[in-house]
Amino acid sequence: MLTLSLPNKINPWQLVADHGRLTGDLALAELPRLAALLNQTNGVVNVTLTAGMDGQGLRFIAGRLHTMVELTCQRCLGPLQLPLEVTVHLGLVHSEAEADRLPDDYEPLLAPDGLMAVADLVEDELLLALPQIPRHADQRECEVHGYGAPDPAFITEQRRPFGLLASLLPDSKRSS
Ligand SMILES: [Zn+2]
Repeated sequence: MLTLSLPNKINPWQLVADHGRLTGDLALAELPRLAALLNQTNGVVNVTLTAGMDGQGLRFIAGRLHTMVELTCQRCLGPLQLPLEVTVHLGLVHSEAEADRLPDDYEPLLAPDGLMAVADLVEDELLLALPQIPRHADQRECEVHGYGAPDPAFITEQRRPFGLLASLLPDSKRSS
């Protein structure tokens, strides 16, 4: 199969007509919307996409993206290395109305008649794949970063607000 190095821009309809294949690496640093959400932007996205027409005459760009990103765990606030393996299954459309008619297993891509940046396409797919609340899968990893069961001092601290509340109640009664 013919393998092209990853161009900056493609004409999606032409790529489909050519049954083109896109493979190569894209630097995370070249994806600013994604990079803004990451702890660090070293690393690359490995892109493997093919374009063509399916048995129903639908034009598609499909394949997979693979990368490793570093986010902040929302449980322990430590660094979280997360592999992202994204399956891409885009159906090319000219309009919203055409998008509505696509079968459910296709994600619509409103493709311009001219050139579009490969980075935009890749970035959109990766953003959709990011977890809403990133967390270490195994809580023991969080404990390595200092997250753990509350110690006795912390429990004492937790009880204090109730004591404070109780002491405030007579005051609030007086003021009403
Ligand atoms: Zn964690």
